[in-house]
Amino acid sequence: MGGVLLPEPPPLVALAASQEPRQPPPAHTNLPDHRINKGRPEFRCNICFKNFATRGSLEVHSTIHTGLRPFVCSVCQKSFRHKVNLMEHFRRKHSQVRPYICDICAARFVTKQELVRHYRKHIGD
Ligand SMILES: [Zn+2]
Ligand SMILES: [Zn+2]
Ligand SMILES: [Zn+2]
Repeated sequence: MGGVLLPEPPPLVALAASQEPRQPPPAHTNLPDHRINKGRPEFRCNICFKNFATRGSLEVHSTIHTGLRPFVCSVCQKSFRHKVNLMEHFRRKHSQVRPYICDICAARFVTKQELVRHYRKHIGD
């Protein structure tokens, strides 16, 4: 083992007799395994046939086709495809600073108008 196995050499007589170049049979085309990236599993989207290196990135991609929005806001139930979108939404909509504080009951309000409206309940008309 270890040596290179050569196909049997064409007979010299045939070479001299024939003008046509002898073509060797295409030995590799019948092999079932013609994938080149062996050992590197790829995850292919079965809708658009894009390849992804990891299962995670394929799953994130496939939400484009399925319309799946797995990240749901716990406050308003709005759903998002990606966690970052949910976090951005939450930051904008639900974690506003409430700088106006009622000095009677310590309730907090986003706008001064809300505080004033609330405050009237304490002081009455
Ligand atoms: Zn796809
Ligand atoms: Zn929300
Ligand atoms: Zn109050």
